[in-house]
Amino acid sequence: MAIERTFSIIKPDATRRNLTGQVNACLEEAGLRIIAQRRIQMTTAQAESFYGVHRERGFFRDLVTFMTSGPVVVQVLEGENAVARNREVMGATDPAKAAAGTIRARFAESIEANSVHGSDSAENAAIEIAFFFAGTDLVG
Ligand code: GDP
Repeated sequence: MAIERTFSIIKPDATRRNLTGQVNACLEEAGLRIIAQRRIQMTTAQAESFYGVHRERGFFRDLVTFMTSGPVVVQVLEGENAVARNREVMGATDPAKAAAGTIRARFAESIEANSVHGSDSAENAAIEIAFFFAGTDLVG
């Protein structure tokens, strides 16, 4: 199996409840290695650009407001099939539909405040990693 990298965000609802360590434990227990991590306050411009694909969706403004409502932790994860593995451990977007034991089933507050982001493809992972990290930040 291929060793991949993926991009992850611990969202403001989770940092507010001091869940960074618990989310990280879930990721590590799933076999993912955190090879870069930084806690930041995302700007409105960053959130609008990062979620640009959702610009036309009804929830776009709310999503940008939510993602800038408090600190987030941006991360790069490495492991076998990291993109799919991370999506698996995150669970479905809507916590009501997320499988038991997943991060979103355990911690998410709502479909919006759903605790974590994870890239949906290797191609997007590379774009999202480069959005927040320099190559020299990644220490695998
Ligand atoms: P993800 O890949 O599972 O994060 O889901 P999407 O790419 O479809 O959506 C991006 C983010 O937008 C989600 O993680 C949620 O935070 C938010 N979101 C998605 N769908 C909805 C919705 O129907 N309502 C609201 N308020 N937020 C949503």
